[in-house]
This record gives sequence, C-alpha cells and structure tokens, in this order.
Amino acid sequence: MSDLSELKVPGPTEIELTKPFWKAAAEGRLLIQRCEDCSKAVFYPREICPHCWSDKLHFEEASGRGRLKSFSVVHKPGHPGWAPVAPYVVGLVELDEGPTMLSHILTGAGEPAVGDRLNMKPTNIGGRVLPAFETADEGAYNG
Ligand SMILES: [Zn+2]
Repeated sequence: MSDLSELKVPGPTEIELTKPFWKAAAEGRLLIQRCEDCSKAVFYPREICPHCWSDKLHFEEASGRGRLKSFSVVHKPGHPGWAPVAPYVVGLVELDEGPTMLSHILTGAGEPAVGDRLNMKPTNIGGRVLPAFETADEGAYNG
C-alpha cells in the first residue's frame, strides 16, 4: 500500500461545532460528546443530544477502543484521489463508549473481521492527521 500521507484527497469540512473534534484529531486524540442530562455518549458532534434532546453536550476524550461492526473493501473509490491505495477498507467502528463512527481501517495485520477489537491510530491521510483504526493487539500474539 502506498503512503496515505501522499494522497491527494479532500479533507474534512470544519464548522464551528466540529472545530474541537478536528483540532484534537490533528493532535492524535479522539473526541466524542457526552450529554450532561442523560450521560450518554454522542458521535458525530451535534448541537442537540439525539437521546434526550438536551443541548448540554460537552466534548471529552474517548478511549479510542472499539469493535468492528461492519466493513467494506473499497475497490472503486468515490474520489479518484484514493485510487493509489485501493483496495482499502472502511468500517463502522462501535466505540466502547457506545456511538458508532465510520473510519478508515488500517489492514497491516491482514483481513479484518466483524467483531475485531480495534484501537484508534492517528494517521496522516492526505497531509492531515485523522483518526483511523487498526486491529487491537490483545496480547495473543505477543509470544
Ligand atoms: Zn442526552
């Protein structure tokens, strides 16, 4: 696979609401929101809690751990900038905090499988550090 940092791909669209998320991502941290009224975790960033309609959401750092809920191997990218690294994997990651996020799945350890434990890995994609995920080393292969 080519170096993801060399890709000519469009970056995320930042709005006022999502600035803290992207700033943290650039620093290698994954932020989610937490509702002060119902205590549930929320992702993607929103103005209103989707569980209880409260507007008291604040950002907090997520563990970066989760489980692969579903994935797709992309052979024909939706944007030509991704072609140099196709086929690649995008997956739905169920974070340990609850919410599900779509992300790039790094496949250095081989084919992913639904149910795999994953760890967030800050990854330079097209010149920006973004939260990708890789299969967690649970210690089983650590001799
Ligand atoms: Zn709530």
